[in-house]
Amino acid sequence: MEKRVEECGDKVILLGKSPKELKALAVSWGMPAYTGSQLADWIYHKRATSFDLMSNISLKHREILSKRADVGLYAPIKEAISIDGTRKYLFEVGEGKFVETVLIPEGERNTLCISSQVGCKMNCYFCMTGKQGFRGNLTSAQILNQCLSLPIWEKVSNIVFMGMGEPMDNIDNVLQTIQLLTDPNTLAMSPKRITVSTVGINHGIQRFLEECQCHLAISLHNPIPYERANLMPAEKAMPINELIKLLQKYDFTKQRRITFEYIVFSGFNDTPTHLQALIKIARNFPSCRLNLIRYHKIPLVDLPETNDKQLQAFFNALVANAVNVTIRQSRGEDIDAACGMLSTKQLVEKRTSE
Ligand code: SF4
Repeated sequence: MEKRVEECGDKVILLGKSPKELKALAVSWGMPAYTGSQLADWIYHKRATSFDLMSNISLKHREILSKRADVGLYAPIKEAISIDGTRKYLFEVGEGKFVETVLIPEGERNTLCISSQVGCKMNCYFCMTGKQGFRGNLTSAQILNQCLSLPIWEKVSNIVFMGMGEPMDNIDNVLQTIQLLTDPNTLAMSPKRITVSTVGINHGIQRFLEECQCHLAISLHNPIPYERANLMPAEKAMPINELIKLLQKYDFTKQRRITFEYIVFSGFNDTPTHLQALIKIARNFPSCRLNLIRYHKIPLVDLPETNDKQLQAFFNALVANAVNVTIRQSRGEDIDAACGMLSTKQLVEKRTSE
């Protein structure tokens, strides 16, 4: 449909810059500092896609801006709508590079699931994105574009960094994005409405916990270290027991919440042994929540799906042991909403057409 994000030659992309950075750029291009504030207003509040729309900036200055910069807001190249209302968007972020964003409506709540990388280095066995390999970090402009370019942005109530990529492996750009999402001068979103998910990347998690107040979700999926390592190679670099020790240094009982994500595979991570190990982990964090997620088969992965009865039995056993647990409903199954499915399809289509 439109140009790719970041495909602007030598032009500076303004989306993703703070008001202070926009002021410094305006001054460096011979404009008054307040033009930086006007730019921030047009980009973050009015979501203007072109300098022509910025009517309170003089024509002369708009011409300079058009030569030097690009706003950086581009619409998705594809949109799919599920029968359950879930919407999936595909963005092109470079030659043959695609990322996915999913909007999940649930009553009053509209959660936007955004991507932080093209592909992923973590190679989790059950994930389609991991099978693409790593193809690059997204800039904060490319992350924010997944939010602000959507016509439905005004209705988004929550953001989760649970799309493609490992956010803590792109921590500079993720923190810059969070800063702009929560800054009262830009998007003014409460950090309580933002959750960042991770498999466990030590340096990234520490910076995240020290530099912002957003919620944290840990992709756990198996509490037994050697089994988790088979499923998630990241376990070898940061074992779950070390991760738990690190997390115990922080307070998750007040503003910030911790959640453990757990995809349930039949007979594979839902046995009594797994149950006991999970309970033990949960007891370290009295206010934590455990999210059980039903696994849906993806190509080339032979892990067994669970059924309603098994999932409910596992849930009941956790409840009986005072674990705060929920079953996350599957959404958008008819539109390839599982992470990495749509972009992989697009990649395959592009390669076979070449
Ligand atoms: S589950 Fe997340 S961390 Fe693991 S490969 Fe997929 S995108 Fe990467």
